[in-house]
Amino acid sequence: MDEVAPGVFVATAEQYTTTTTVVAGLNGGCLVVDPAVTAADLDALASWLSARGLRPVAGWSTHPHWDHVLWSRALGDGVVRFATPRAAQVAARERRGLIDGVEESAPGHDLALFARLEPLAAAEIPWDGPRAVVVAHDAHAPGHGALFLPETGVLIAGDMCSDIEIPLLDLESADPFGDYGKGLRALASLTEVRVVVPGHGHVGDAAEYRRRIAADFAYLDAVQAGHDPADPRLDGQEWLRAEHARHLALVSERGAGR
Ligand SMILES: [Zn+2]
Repeated sequence: MDEVAPGVFVATAEQYTTTTTVVAGLNGGCLVVDPAVTAADLDALASWLSARGLRPVAGWSTHPHWDHVLWSRALGDGVVRFATPRAAQVAARERRGLIDGVEESAPGHDLALFARLEPLAAAEIPWDGPRAVVVAHDAHAPGHGALFLPETGVLIAGDMCSDIEIPLLDLESADPFGDYGKGLRALASLTEVRVVVPGHGHVGDAAEYRRRIAADFAYLDAVQAGHDPADPRLDGQEWLRAEHARHLALVSERGAGR
């Protein structure tokens, strides 16, 4: 666990370089964002929290993908785990597919607690800790909700702003590039970001945050123009190259249909 800002802790799992974020609140309460990935990772997180005297009082799930909707009894089976209304709805509707994903890639989780999300219509997490403002959009997944902590300038970005992953579009959306651009603009409009925590990858400072936003816009622009961008994140990552090929195919299909 790294303390990336006062009272904000990030753990990074070996699998997919996945991050878990903990925000300390009042009286030992804490907010847990996207705990992941393996059952052993969640056990280790619960042990770390109890050793620090921290107790989850709320959860946040950034988006309805299986590796972002995990939970365990040791984290507290009565803890409300919020998500945007759209994300909660999609997680309920696509529960079967999400379960297939977790069973295939990280078996052993308590499925009774898996993907149980409470829709949050409010603009901020209702808790007594540091303010956590929801930045909702539909880039990468429907109802994706980043959290911005104004007091420390921390942006918990979910599956955006990664140093190791290209922008990954929601290919089931009616307008994958449009949605992604809108989401990225919503994040780019946050002028006070001092620390960025991507769902997969490494924590970055303000300059790195700006660099990633620019790199992601450059990637989207290049692909939409039908070019193969020189993006170092594509080097040697087979699965990302496959996603990238899907993005390019989408552009050429749409072009042909015009
Ligand atoms: Zn995702």
